[in-house]
Amino acid sequence: MHRRVQSLTNLLDAYQGGAYNRVMSVDASNAATQFRAYTELVRKNGIDDAVVIETSKVYTAPWVRMKCQFGCSGYGETLCCPPHTPTPEQMRTILDSYAYGILLHMQWRKDNGATEQFNDALLDLERTIFLDGCYKAWALGSGPCDRCEKCNIEGLCVHPDKARPSMEGCGIDVFKTARGQGLPIHVLKSRREERNMYGLVLIE
Ligand code: SF4
Repeated sequence: MHRRVQSLTNLLDAYQGGAYNRVMSVDASNAATQFRAYTELVRKNGIDDAVVIETSKVYTAPWVRMKCQFGCSGYGETLCCPPHTPTPEQMRTILDSYAYGILLHMQWRKDNGATEQFNDALLDLERTIFLDGCYKAWALGSGPCDRCEKCNIEGLCVHPDKARPSMEGCGIDVFKTARGQGLPIHVLKSRREERNMYGLVLIE
């Protein structure tokens, strides 16, 4: 059984300093410093990198949706995939309604449950930030949602507290966004190849 991510909330409970239990007011010059506690905590939870990013540097592009629709067998298979997710144009508007995101990166190392571990860490971070008073906190995960054996595609999501669409499923150019932060990502030549996973928690 894969290693379950330690709850960030538990970590925060143990943290001495109390910086989390207040609504944060952030200006552009010190966002990385203001959110450093979060980036350090997710690294402790096994995430390789956590970077504070301005949402203007999270890139959307029309071709991302096209790649989902023509070329991905998962198109339309879950409520977290297109055509159920925001279009690139809608996602641009959503991103522009936030100032920052925390971009998470983890290398998938052929370990069963790695994607679940990564997406659970994203949800824990979203919840922690929300409970700190940042009421707009919202996470985008990695890959298609596989929390149910078969998605309730004709109805509503049965795990709305856990299901989050992926960055690419919302029209984000993950390659350009990650490379812009100096983070690794490359085209896979086989499904067995180890890969880089990315997720984003929007924050303000
Ligand atoms: S949690 Fe289940 S119902 Fe909801 S999107 Fe994922 S697979 Fe579909």
